[in-house]
Amino acid sequence: MARPLAPSIVVVGSSNTDMVVKATRLPAPGETVVGGTFLMNPGGKGANQAVAAARLGGAVTFVAKVGDDVFGQQAREGFRQEGLDTSWVLTDAEHPSGVALITVDEHGENCIVVAPGANGTLTPDELQRAQSSIAQAALVLVQLEIPLETVARAVALAQAHGVRVVLNPAPARTLPDELLRHVSVITPNQTEASRLTGITVHDDTTAEWAARALHAKGIGTVILTLGAQGALVHHEGQTWRVAAPPVEAVDTTAAGDVFNGALVVGLAEGRPLRDAVDFACRAAAVSVTRMGAQASAPRRAEVDALQS
Ligand code: ADP
Repeated sequence: MARPLAPSIVVVGSSNTDMVVKATRLPAPGETVVGGTFLMNPGGKGANQAVAAARLGGAVTFVAKVGDDVFGQQAREGFRQEGLDTSWVLTDAEHPSGVALITVDEHGENCIVVAPGANGTLTPDELQRAQSSIAQAALVLVQLEIPLETVARAVALAQAHGVRVVLNPAPARTLPDELLRHVSVITPNQTEASRLTGITVHDDTTAEWAARALHAKGIGTVILTLGAQGALVHHEGQTWRVAAPPVEAVDTTAAGDVFNGALVVGLAEGRPLRDAVDFACRAAAVSVTRMGAQASAPRRAEVDALQS
C-alpha cells in the first residue's frame, strides 16, 4: 500500500465528554447553586491531541476506548468528522464512556471530577492489535489518562519497531525509570516536570535542572512547556528557550494538548526539532486566544499566519 503523503501519526489515549456548568460560584459541600448554564464538549487529552494533529495536516490514527453509549457514539462521529482513522477506537460493552464533570465560576476557577470509564479498561493486549499501525507510523504520541501498563506497551511497541515515541506525561504523576528509558521525547508542563523529578520548577534554572534530570533517565529530547513563557528544550547536550508568541489569552484549556498535537506533526514531517517546537508554540498560542479545548485547536493556515 502506498504511504499517505501526510505524516502518519498514532495517538494512543483518552476520550472524554466534558460536561461543563458555568455558575456564579463553586458550591460548598452539600450546597446547591442554582442559575448555571450547561455546555457539553468533546475532550480527553488523547482525543484533544489527536484532533489538534489532524487539523494541522497529520494523518492520525487514534487508539482509544469508548463506552457503548450515546457519548461514545458522539465521540466516534466527531473523530470521523475530524478525519481521524477510527479503526482502533474500541467499544467497551460494560463500562460507560469517560466523562469529566466540570464546574466553572465567574472568575474562571474550576472544579473537575473525571470518571474515566472505558478509558480505564484499554488493555495492553487490545493496544497490541493496533501494532501494524504503530509499526508504519512516523511517530506515536501517548499521555497518562489510560492504564499505565497500556502506556508502557505503546512505548515498548513503538521502540520495537524503531518508531519515535512522544510521551506527554499528563496528568502529573511519578513514572518508573524503566518506562522513561524508552521514551524518545517527553513534554511535561511545570507541574508534571516537578512531579517526575522532585525538582520544583519555578524559573529557568530549575526548569533546566528538571530537563537534565529527565535526560539523565535516558530520554533523548526533553521539552518543558512553560505556559506564557513558552518552552525549554534540552537535546543532545544543548538547552534552549523558545518564547511563546505574545497573544491575548482568553482560555488556556488544552494549550498543552494543542502543543503536543502540533509538535508531532512538525516532527513527523521531518522538521528540525527547533522548527517543530516553534510550530508547536505558535499553534498553542493561537489556541489560547479562543475558548474551548478541541474547539480552539487551530488549522494550519492560522498557525502559519502567526509569526513568532
Ligand atoms: P498545559 O496546558 O499542559 O498546562 P502549558 O501551560 O505549559 O501546558 O502550555 C502549553 C504551551 O501552550 C506553552 O508551552 C505555550 O507554548 C502555550 N501557551 C500557554 N499559555 C500561553 C499564553 N498565555 N500565551 C501564549 N502561549 C501560551
